[in-house]
Amino acid sequence: MNRPLAVSVALPLPMRREFSYRVPEAMEPPLPGARVRVPFGERALTGIVTGQAAADDPAALRDILEVLDLEPACTPELLATASRVAQRFFASRGEVLKSALPARLPAAGAVRYRITERGALARCVGADKAILERLSGGESVRVTDLPEPGRQVLLRSLEERGWIRPVVFGRERRRRVELAYAPAKVDAAERARRLPRGRRAAEVLRYFEELGRPATAAEVRGETGAGPAVVRALRDSGLLLRFEQERRDEAVVRATPASGPAVSVVLTAEQAAAEKEVIGAIRGRRYLAALLQGVTGSGKTEVYVRAIAAALDGGRGAVWLVPEIALTPFFARRLTAQFGERAAVLHSGLSERERGDAWERIRGGRARVVIGPRSAAFAPVEDPGLFVVDEEHDASYKQREAPRYDAREVAAIRARATSAVLLFGSATPSLEAYYAARQGRLRLLELTARVGDRALPRVEIVDLRRERARPDEKGVPLFSAPLVDRLRQVFAAGEQAILLQPRRGFAPILLCRDCGFDFRCSHCSVSRTVHDRGRSLVCHYCGERSGRPPRCPECGGALLEEIGAGTERVADRFAALFPGVRHAILDRDTARRRGAAAVLQEMASEEIACLIGTQMVAKGHDFPGVTAVGVLSADTLLNFPDFRSAEKTYQLVAQVSGRSGRGQSPGTVHVQTFHPQHPAIRMAAAHDLHGFAQQELDFRRAFFYPPFSELAAVMVSSPDRGRAERAAAGVGAALKTHAGQLRLSGPAPAPLERLQGRWRFQILLRARDRKEVLAALEEAIPERAPAAVRIDVDVDPQDLM
Ligand code: ADP
Ligand code: ZN
Repeated sequence: MNRPLAVSVALPLPMRREFSYRVPEAMEPPLPGARVRVPFGERALTGIVTGQAAADDPAALRDILEVLDLEPACTPELLATASRVAQRFFASRGEVLKSALPARLPAAGAVRYRITERGALARCVGADKAILERLSGGESVRVTDLPEPGRQVLLRSLEERGWIRPVVFGRERRRRVELAYAPAKVDAAERARRLPRGRRAAEVLRYFEELGRPATAAEVRGETGAGPAVVRALRDSGLLLRFEQERRDEAVVRATPASGPAVSVVLTAEQAAAEKEVIGAIRGRRYLAALLQGVTGSGKTEVYVRAIAAALDGGRGAVWLVPEIALTPFFARRLTAQFGERAAVLHSGLSERERGDAWERIRGGRARVVIGPRSAAFAPVEDPGLFVVDEEHDASYKQREAPRYDAREVAAIRARATSAVLLFGSATPSLEAYYAARQGRLRLLELTARVGDRALPRVEIVDLRRERARPDEKGVPLFSAPLVDRLRQVFAAGEQAILLQPRRGFAPILLCRDCGFDFRCSHCSVSRTVHDRGRSLVCHYCGERSGRPPRCPECGGALLEEIGAGTERVADRFAALFPGVRHAILDRDTARRRGAAAVLQEMASEEIACLIGTQMVAKGHDFPGVTAVGVLSADTLLNFPDFRSAEKTYQLVAQVSGRSGRGQSPGTVHVQTFHPQHPAIRMAAAHDLHGFAQQELDFRRAFFYPPFSELAAVMVSSPDRGRAERAAAGVGAALKTHAGQLRLSGPAPAPLERLQGRWRFQILLRARDRKEVLAALEEAIPERAPAAVRIDVDVDPQDLM
């Protein structure tokens, strides 16, 4: 290959085109996947080299400023994945790559190398001699300070032979390695000549001879009493070599096999059948896309863990995706207990440095199985054999901001490219996955019963229209009589409960009884939520916060009233109804304050008897002590202006119900609603997934919604309403001319017409397949939006607000 004169670089900008840069003569040309610093306007940006650029006139291009990676940060497989993802979601490849890589990877110039014992003892004559000599002092040396010719290739070969080792900073790495000493190979006469004066030096050498292995300075001191000065003198005279070795305690951990099943559960027949199919494909290196559709408590996790173990045993890696927040620490514990050092956990609580460390551990092949939310789909696991997408229906797999990619699709793309297994798992699969399984595009693996002959909980629908509100409840009862009775029983028996209220804060609305003013946000077209037990008002969309005024700012009226209830208010009412019963709130506010894991831990250890929270309480938890679940209001999601509102309601009710009765005692569920006849609620109560899916699919087919169409939403926004409206009309007209088979709706004001100070207009387009949607977008969406206007495209949106 000729030396590339120019390369194309994907930059983290909301632009789909890429830019070419010249490789200056003196620079080692960067490989595809390497990070580079390049000038962009007045700034310098970090981008990823995507390939050689056809440059007719390289002199006209600007120069790369710096190559940050000698070893490309991004593997060819990930680079290809990112391209495909960017294309499928009409996103910028640079932005996709930016989400794929941790924000803080050490730059190559900052990477240092150090010699190992083997390297120190090796006699080398070849081309790598210059590098080894430079490292022979035992100090770590920056890559850029090592002799230049052929450096990149030589370093790699030396590292592969185990003669040198990159020193990556970060706590984790430091815990894993230590500095050690061993005697140099010199003959007796030479040794006598060089021996530093003093009794200690000779003693230390004798100690090493007897020991027969390298030792750390601490060990030397412990055994001989010789301090660092003696060791240094021996090193200066060339009698001791210094190098880095893996910590001995770490090495022991790594040597112990950890992949066998940790617990000796006997799989049910259905679990065994699913396991066999998945493991067969992993071993046979066959691409398999499957849906593990198992009712709540049917033991899906056990199947995942065994499949992961099989992938590792076959020398392959695995990626286990879980919904955002909450779940990661719990599964992570299970994973590290079983797979030890070979597991890496990526979660939102990590600092950028910890994330970078974990990423390096994966990239270097030391961690082979990765668990984490959405972005973990890009984890650079080498030769992956399995991608698990747990709770496949969860909306958090789709990123809401640019790049708007879907981790489920990332996993699918990678699994296909690497001949791996794609395993979606859920008790309530998305209709897309459900339909794909019915059509045979996903292999259906079913777990129809709970493990241990446990029954699914009995679900009672409570018709709120017949419940009497207490005088202070303003017509809307919070706790129905049947729910209160059941909870009394449960707490008396020492069992636990979960209560779901899908709104955080104290109350969704503060209303002036005199003029009807509802304390709207000044930047968003929503009313603000009452928080802090009535003391403050917060916008859930932009965060605007203020104290609650004593009087209405419009009319001066003093009759301000909180309407409805959020988790805070539910907790207050709970405390009044069940004095002395310990409880905690789990929602985004408490998760931010205390960490979701801390709250879940209290529940797991039965320190608290009741967990009150939003959707977060419904996600995958396995608390055997929970025998009652209450859905305080099942209608919140139902009322959303979204074609998925019934599906989301079904999933939420079925999932939270699934938390009940997972232990020895059978469980109950009470679902409070004003729409007891709604099919989503009725069928969730009857555990009738097929009935619900059938009916919902009929609706989707009739109205040409996914999974029968591919959908994209174009959002045109501006601080100036007129500009937004005009620009939207322009985009709408352009789309119309390229419509073809496309079905267009809008432009129309978005359901949330104003958000964070921007006026928003929405256009929806639908077509039979994704290609048509993308082609129309390609034609109609300008690379540069008009002044003060933003155009955001969301392909396959999960949220149409
Ligand atoms: P799901 O994810 O399907 O809701 P889990 O994987 O959480 O279900 O399993 C529910 C419980 O059953 C867990 O406590 C798990 O350890 C246990 N379990 C799983 N498989 C078996 C089995 N074959 N025999 C006995 N217990 C099992
Ligand atoms: Zn706002």
